[in-house]
Amino acid sequence: MRIVRCLLDQAEPRYGIVEAGDRVQPLALPPFEGLRPAGNPVPLSRVELLAPCTPSKIVAVGLNYRDHARELGMDPPGEPMLFLKPGTAVTGPGGKIVYPEMSSRVDYEGELAVVMGRRTSRVSREEARACILGYTCLNDVTARDLQVKDVQFTRAKSFDTFAPLGPWIETDLDPCCLTVETFLNGERRQSSSTSQLVFDPFYLVHFVSWIMTLNPGDVIATGTPSGIGPMQPGDRIEIRIQGIGSLINEVVLPAAAAAPRSGNHHV
Ligand code: ZN
Repeated sequence: MRIVRCLLDQAEPRYGIVEAGDRVQPLALPPFEGLRPAGNPVPLSRVELLAPCTPSKIVAVGLNYRDHARELGMDPPGEPMLFLKPGTAVTGPGGKIVYPEMSSRVDYEGELAVVMGRRTSRVSREEARACILGYTCLNDVTARDLQVKDVQFTRAKSFDTFAPLGPWIETDLDPCCLTVETFLNGERRQSSSTSQLVFDPFYLVHFVSWIMTLNPGDVIATGTPSGIGPMQPGDRIEIRIQGIGSLINEVVLPAAAAAPRSGNHHV
C-alpha cells in the first residue's frame, strides 16, 4: 500500500491511499490512527503531493553503508552514529531545495527513510518491525563546508528544505536488499543496495528507541552509500529506491525560492 499526503482542491493537507496506481482514496484520519476511507477517490494527477508525513524529528545515521565507509577509508562504526535533522527541514516531492547564502558546497545524500507508525520506546529488534509504518526516499542535503567547519552537524544538516521526503510511504516492503540510486540531472551518481547497510532498519529503530521516544510520523534516515557529491542551483536531483519510486527536487537560489508560493507545489 502507498500512503500519500496531499492537497485536494485548496483544502487542508489530507492523507490518502493510492489505488490502482492512479487514484487517491482520501482517509478520514492520519494513517497512524486507522485507514478509514472518507469521500470519493480523486485522480492522482489532480492532487498536489506533499511530504508523506510531518516528522517531529528526523534521526539520521552517519557512515552506515560498507561501500561508503570503504570510500572514505574508514572502518564501519561499532554502533550507529546518530545526528538529528529538524522537522522544519522537510520539503515534499517537487519542492525546491534552497541553496543557502552561507555555504559554497551543498551535497546530495540519497537515503532509505523509515517512517514510524506508532509511539516507540525501548523496543527490541524483534518488536521494531511492528512499529514501522513503511518506507520512503529522503535526500539528506548537507552543507559539506559547514559540516567540516563546525565539526557539529546541526547547521550543515538543518537548513529549511534540506530534507526532501517522498513521494509516498510504501508499507509492503522488505527493506533488506533494495537498490538505492541517485541521479543528478539524469546522470547516475550513487548506486548501492540496502544489503550494504551496517545496521539495518529494525536494529536502528531498536537502538534509537533506547535513547529517545519515536513518535508516529517520525523518520529515521538510514545513511547514504558511496558517491556523494555537490549540487548547483538549477540542478535536478532524483533519489530512486526499488519498490518505492522517485523523489525529484530542484536546487534554487534563495531569490528564486522567494517567488510566489514556494514549497510543495509540483507533483
Ligand atoms: Zn546522510
